[in-house]
Amino acid sequence: MSTLKDKQLTDITVEDLLISSEKVAHVQLNNPLEHALLVLVKSGYSAVPVLDPSYKLVGTIGKTVILNQILGLERFEFEKLSSMRVEEVMYTDIPCLSKNDTFLDALKAVIDSPFVCVSDAEGYFDGILTRRAILKQVSRDIYTKRQLTEK
Ligand code: AMP
Repeated sequence: MSTLKDKQLTDITVEDLLISSEKVAHVQLNNPLEHALLVLVKSGYSAVPVLDPSYKLVGTIGKTVILNQILGLERFEFEKLSSMRVEEVMYTDIPCLSKNDTFLDALKAVIDSPFVCVSDAEGYFDGILTRRAILKQVSRDIYTKRQLTEK
């Protein structure tokens, strides 16, 4: 079996670069915004996936949208953090990949977002693909090709 290192970019699929669901920080639809903000601040991530109780992917939520929601005229209305739920403010119109999508599909998807969610045909969450993982492969490919032409 060939390792990722030996693969051409054209042979790499989303599955090869996936951060699998069990390693991905996420929040649930019905969590209060306070919990989502805690997850985001503690993990250091700007956004994380939102899952429903059956672990289907339903959206993403980030720090900026939460802070905008609680921004009043003169102060942050922190009390809203416990009364509002993730499903009220999350993004639902999100790009999504599947494990067997190609490297090119993945490259196009991460142009506009630092990460893209991956789910199966029934909508169950498989994990995420980051722009970092894609850029690492592109960099490796350029480096390898340069070494070959210098030989
Ligand atoms: P990175 O490529 O590590 O800079 O990650 C880019 C973005 O992908 C982060 O800001 C998060 O929104 C998301 N992300 C990366 N890794 C994880 C993870 N393990 N759990 C949740 N979100 C992640």
